[in-house]
Amino acid sequence: MENINDLIEISRNPIAYARTMKSSGRKIIGYFCSYMPEEIVHAAGLHPMRLFGTKGDTSPADRHLQSYCCSLVRGALTESMAGDLDFLDGTVFPHTCDSIQRLSDIWRMNTDHGFFADVVLPVKLTTPSARQYMIEVMARFKGDIERHFGRPITDDDLGRSISLYNRIRSLLKEIYEMRSKAPSIFPGSELCSLMKASVTVDRNILPEALEGLVSELRAKAPSPGSNVKRLMLVGSVCDHPDIHSIIERSGGSVVWDDLCTGTRHLGAIEEGKDPLIAIADRYFERPICPAKHKSPTARGDHITAQAKEHGVEGVIFLYLKFCDPHSFDYPCIKESLEKAHVPSMLLEIEDRLPPEGQLLTRLETFIQML
Ligand code: SF4
Ligand code: SF4
Repeated sequence: MENINDLIEISRNPIAYARTMKSSGRKIIGYFCSYMPEEIVHAAGLHPMRLFGTKGDTSPADRHLQSYCCSLVRGALTESMAGDLDFLDGTVFPHTCDSIQRLSDIWRMNTDHGFFADVVLPVKLTTPSARQYMIEVMARFKGDIERHFGRPITDDDLGRSISLYNRIRSLLKEIYEMRSKAPSIFPGSELCSLMKASVTVDRNILPEALEGLVSELRAKAPSPGSNVKRLMLVGSVCDHPDIHSIIERSGGSVVWDDLCTGTRHLGAIEEGKDPLIAIADRYFERPICPAKHKSPTARGDHITAQAKEHGVEGVIFLYLKFCDPHSFDYPCIKESLEKAHVPSMLLEIEDRLPPEGQLLTRLETFIQML
């Protein structure tokens, strides 16, 4: 069984971990976006693994992708074309942002990882037909997996996976909440790595490791109040534990986030009802990202409410270059935060962080302003 340090180590080299899993006979399904119904993949006895792309040179993929695609998508295609993802037995593309949709077509034509599925989820989540459509998409995806891997997925299989995912997400949420009350009990960089590990490692071993950490954190006395500024990170994917360390050196601490590698991924699935309906319903209840629509103010309202609930003093928009959906949402969310008197700053990054000195200066200036 892995402990937290092992999980953090795995998050630094997920490909090496995937190769070990593969050599033990597990089939691995890669995906790029938290709208992928992992529970269905897990219920089929497969291992779902979120892919984060290389942080190196992405020019090989630039020949295939439009210039507006983000570095996450370019990095993933580069890794696949270089053979670094040869452990995959399949890849799944939820219908979300343009970059992921474009990657899907190009991936299908230029790579060969066995199973391939587009999961075409509804975009507008408030129409009368959206729920029924979502349920049918889940059923179709389940059928595609069953046919390709030659194994039926029963309701009991789905029920067990749902319970496991609920346990994992509820433990992660508890860690977030304990950190929000006393940020010094667990470094933000380690929570960021842990979140990445939680979509990388064998889910069956996660609850035990997380329970160990929760007990350890519960036993720690919260340190007395300090002058550390309480911050929130908002954006898409964060695969940069270092950013937390730099923020902490600048006098702040990320006490909450709205990231799809963070709290947006934590909601529970209702147990005891039809499992496919329950999985579909979670996508209506979880906080949305800009690839889904509920109302023009839904994201701003949610982020502002979360900032207030967690005593956030400043918000950092972590904006991945060329991520159009998040750039379109930014002005409305900023306005909503301004109305609530929560200052914010925009930090544009690529797959790699800007030079540390530059980042430190910008963050220190923002934090001193708060
Ligand atoms: S921000 Fe939304 S569309 Fe982008 S990767 Fe995350 S969940 Fe998917
Ligand atoms: S939402 Fe943004 S960061 Fe995520 S895949 Fe799409 S363009 Fe890239």
